[in-house]
Amino acid sequence: MSANILDGKAIAAEVRAAIKAQVDERIEQDQLPPGLAVILVGENPASQVYVRNKKNACKEVGFADFAYDLPATTTQVDLLALIDELNANPEVHGILVQLPLPDHINPETVIERISPAKDVDGFHPYNVGRLATRMPKLAPCTPHGVMTMLAKTGIELRGLNAVVVGASNIVGVPMALELLNARATVTICHSATKDLPAKIAEADLVVVGVGIPNMVKGDWIKPGAIVIDVGINRLDNGRLCGDVEFESAKARASWITPVPGGVGPMTIATLLENTLVVAQAS
Ligand code: NDP
Repeated sequence: MSANILDGKAIAAEVRAAIKAQVDERIEQDQLPPGLAVILVGENPASQVYVRNKKNACKEVGFADFAYDLPATTTQVDLLALIDELNANPEVHGILVQLPLPDHINPETVIERISPAKDVDGFHPYNVGRLATRMPKLAPCTPHGVMTMLAKTGIELRGLNAVVVGASNIVGVPMALELLNARATVTICHSATKDLPAKIAEADLVVVGVGIPNMVKGDWIKPGAIVIDVGINRLDNGRLCGDVEFESAKARASWITPVPGGVGPMTIATLLENTLVVAQAS
């Protein structure tokens, strides 16, 4: 058996094309283009790549992008003042502060300062709470993008045993909430979980977001399971790999996401989707 590949690059391109069509319609009707403000503080090289990709995606779909590349010495007070200004700007529909932030800035304070209505990353406790109470508004992009990919398999998630490996606020926890809302039976695993292989062996669907290259071995996967690899790890040879041993897992799974070209492009496409939703509602 060899799994079908869930091609995030292709699905994300479809999502972006649909967004672009809606943006073109807005422009024809003399409405503002959706506006996304992307704030980067400091010079973390990985963050610079993510921010560049987000800006390029904005351009492709016709969004107005408001870019703020701030020095690492920016104070928290100044960053909060900028967020206040963007919260009040009607041309800005979405605000994203790229994480991680320098040590002298508290990320929770910053996230809570973004208006929940413009929180297109979906990290504000208000939006996390909406997701947790089955009334989602702006859902975190990576897990929501995974749900878009899963829909493409045509497989009914209701009743599946789903195992989420990783319990971060950005990936694991909102992923588990999305799957719970789809009525899967969800187990969340983390660094204190005992016997991870046994947990994964029960899974009809496994989503891994840990940040350890090739941590999940192919022979842990239940034959026929769906495998979603959120991990993005750069190896010493410069190549990217996921958290799942791809070739051996592919031999057992029914569907699998590659790295790169899997979940990564979906995260950005979902960010654009969230921004469009805010613009269409305003
Ligand atoms: P974090 O470091 O915030 O979280 C990692 C999680 O993995 C934690 O919950 C941790 O457990 C858990 N963990 C660590 N070691 C183990 C282990 N041995 N067994 C089981 N669980 C373990 O990372 P993120 O959630 O931010 O990111 C995870 C990965 O996803 C990274 O590779 C990142 O690059 C990638 N990523 C990809 C995105 C995309 O668009 N494709 C977007 C965001 C992230 P504990 O809670 O106990 O500490």
